[in-house]
Formats: sequence, structure tokens, C-alpha cells
Amino acid sequence: MLRNRYLKEVYQGTAERNRGETEFLQAVLEVFLSLEPYVERHPELEAHGIMERLVEPERMVTFRVTWEDDRGRVHVNRGYRVQFSSAIGPYKGGLRFHPSVNASIIKFLGFEQIFKNSLTSLSLGGAKGGADFDPKGRSDGEVMRFCKAFMTELHRHIGANCDVPAGDIGVGGREIGYLFGQYKRLCNNFTGVLTGKGLHYGGSLTRKEATGYGLIYFVEEMLRCLGHETVFGKTLVVSGSGNVAIYAVEKATRLGGRVVAMSDSGGYILDENGIQLDVVKAIKEEERGRISDYARRVPGSRYVEGCRGIWSVPCAIALPCATQNELDLAAARTLVDNGVIAVGEGANMPCTAEAAAYFQEHRVLFAPAKAANAGGVAASGLEMSQNAMRASWSFEQVEEKLRDIMVHIFQISQEAAAGCGRPGDLITGANVAGFVKVAEAMLSEGLY
Ligand code: NDP
Repeated sequence: MLRNRYLKEVYQGTAERNRGETEFLQAVLEVFLSLEPYVERHPELEAHGIMERLVEPERMVTFRVTWEDDRGRVHVNRGYRVQFSSAIGPYKGGLRFHPSVNASIIKFLGFEQIFKNSLTSLSLGGAKGGADFDPKGRSDGEVMRFCKAFMTELHRHIGANCDVPAGDIGVGGREIGYLFGQYKRLCNNFTGVLTGKGLHYGGSLTRKEATGYGLIYFVEEMLRCLGHETVFGKTLVVSGSGNVAIYAVEKATRLGGRVVAMSDSGGYILDENGIQLDVVKAIKEEERGRISDYARRVPGSRYVEGCRGIWSVPCAIALPCATQNELDLAAARTLVDNGVIAVGEGANMPCTAEAAAYFQEHRVLFAPAKAANAGGVAASGLEMSQNAMRASWSFEQVEEKLRDIMVHIFQISQEAAAGCGRPGDLITGANVAGFVKVAEAMLSEGLY
């Protein structure tokens, strides 16, 4: 629990003002716990109300999204955009389309994004958005109508130098294309207002792969520096089978790792020979199907109902890449009993606070999401640079920059952890390293 009086008071006030927003409060508490040693040494933070200001979004809009399905039935969803902090740059953060989306989830994601974006060393503020729309089972026409209705409101609040959304769960290349098309039509302006765009209309090579590849670069660096190990020859378990999971598996396999399990929200597949990623890509990227199909197509593999069971599969490296709080204390115990040596968070806040603490207590190398999955937003920042310059960099150029950014994030997180007297604690390190730059900018910019 929090010991610092100032942080405790701000946290209590935040909890009272945001009752029932469990994910948001979980994210705030994790950051505050990490910042205690730093805040103790910096009384100017309290004098300038930095923490009170940081937990209150600069702006948050919710809006009605009305659209028509293929049978002519009218549907109403709720859209969100939270613009959390513009202290170090224009707002930046993805859009999530999933039935579970609510204010708490959007705020937790937007709050985390402030520190993640700061860690990339690019000038990007923190934001997030989305809707409680479920694209699963919807036709392309229905998804297009939803995206256009969503952008019809969102376009008022975003802009290439003001707020640049990207994808997240349920928002990939198809959705970004429809959203971009509608923005262009409404504003009569061809500009880099979204990232994750298609390559023929301003997208960047490597953006699709960036979060998954970046996660593996980070984990590889952590293994090398803190464990004197590499991914080569290790067994991995990766939850999810979406954008982040697929490209984490691709890079880990190329580095000589053997991924034996992947999942979706229905269950997980087990393939001791190593997952055949071309089969997963065909099912998930082309057919928009279920992971259970894998077992029907690949002899020797099997499907197990229920996604949480994936953590009972023994592995050296576990990469939760699906969603928040998918890995709890019981799963962490099982992984430790089975000999896990490293955990890398590809999803945002996939480990509960208890699970993360358990890994650290048991000396499992732990790569927190803010640092480990920052590759996606880093590549988005590189896409924005290319758009501004009207340039197109090669796959190798972007990948090299991405790798350098991930290694740098590891280094600054490790240094910040050591500076706080918590060597090897990358949760503390990432939070402090991300926070300092934002706090210093807020102190320089005066009250707002
Ligand atoms: P996708 O929509 O591409 O894939 C999500 C995957 O997670 C799917 O396999 C989905 O299964 C599964 N999933 C979703 N909800 C649940 C649930 N409640 N329980 C179990 N499985 C679930 O999303 P992304 O890969 O883009 O995002 C995954 C995570 O990574 C999210 O936490 C996101 O915030 C984070 N992230 C993404 C970035 C990006 O660049 N895309 C950048 C940084 C972080 P199903 O199809 O059955 O729903």
C-alpha cells in the first residue's frame, strides 16, 4: 500500500471521483507505488499539483454512434476519446472496438499511454479511444458503416498536429482504412491523422509487425542483460492470436524460440512441434476465423476450450498478448512452478498486480507493458515523421529504428530502477523513466 502522504491523498481523491472504475484505479495505483521514492525527493511536484493534474484527463468525450446493419436495423453504440496528456506532444493512442469497452478501460489505457509514449523518446502525448462495438461476425459493409459513423463525430476532436489515433483490439488495417476515408471526406484534407494506414495511402512498413517484434526485442535485451540468456532454444507460450501475438510469435520463432501455444477468447491450441504461423495467419488475418480451426488443420496439435488454461502449459517465456488482467495470481503460481524464467507483457496490463508482484518475488524477469509493448506506438511515431516529410522508409530502416528504440527503453528503465534503489525492477524503472519527462514538461509549461 502507499506510504507517501501526498500520493496517498491524491489516490484517495481519484478513487472517490472515479468510483467503480477498477481498471483505471489499478493502473493509477501501480504507477503511484513505483513513483514513491521519486516523489519523496521532489517536493515541487506537490507544490505544482502535478499528480492531481496527471490523473485527470485534459479532455474526454463520449458520443453516440448510430449505424445500420445489413438488414436495415438501427444500432446505437457508445464512442469514447480520452485526451489524457499533451505535455510532451500531440495526443496519441489507439482505438479499441470491443463489447467490454467502457470509461474505466479507456481511461486506464489512456493513462498508461502517457508514460509509454514518453519512454519511446518521441514527442507524443497520451490518449485512447474506442467503442463498445463488436466487429466479430459483422460483414465488411457493417464494419464500414460503423467506422464512418464513429468518425463522423470523432473528426471534430482529432488532427495531424493535435490527436492521432491508431488501432488496438478490434481495430486493424480494415478499420483504419474506413476511418481514414471518412476523415478525409469530412475534412477535405489528406493528412497523417491516423497511423496503421495501408501502405498505398501513407502507411509505414513495419507498423503491422511493430508491437510484436518490439516485444521480442525488449525481452531479448532483458534476457541478455539481466539473465545472460537469449530466446534461442527456449519454449514460449503466447496468449491471443491477434496483431500483437502473431508478430511476437513470428520474431520469436525467427530468433530460434519454439512457441507451443496460442489462444483466442474461446480457448487455446497446443502444438509441441512449434506453432505453424502461416496457418494461424490464414485463419486470423484472412478468414477472421477461430483458433480452434488450427487443430483441425495441423496433425498432432490439439485445441482446449477456455482461454485461461493456456498458462498451465509449461514454458520458459510467457507472453500475455490478449487483454487486461488475463493472467492472475493462480496462473502466475502455475507458471513459476513450471519453471518460467521470463514474462513479457505484450497486451496492456495483462497481469494482475498480484501476479506481477509474484513474478518479481520469485525472481522471474518481468517486462512491463508500458515498456515492452511500446514498439507499436514507436512505429506509429515513425509513420507520422514519414507523413510529415512525405517520405517512405524501407522495412529495414524502420525495423532498425524500432530495435534501437526498444533497446533504449530497456536501458533507461533499467537505469531508473537502479536509481530508485530497486535494481532489476523494470515496473518501477519504466514508470519513473516515463514520468520524469512528462512531469518536467508540466513544470515548465505552467498551470493548465
Ligand atoms: P487484436 O484485436 O488483433 O487481437 C486480440 C486478441 O486477444 C484476439 O486473439 C482476441 O481473441 C484476444 N482477446 C480479446 N479479448 C479477450 C479476452 N477477454 N480474453 C481472452 N482473449 C481475448 O488486438 P491486438 O493484438 O492489437 O491487441 C492485443 C493487446 O495488445 C491489447 O491489450 C492491446 O491494448 C495491446 N496493444 C496493442 C498494440 C497494437 O499495436 N495493436 C500496441 C500496444 C498494445 P478473440 O478474437 O476471440 O476476441
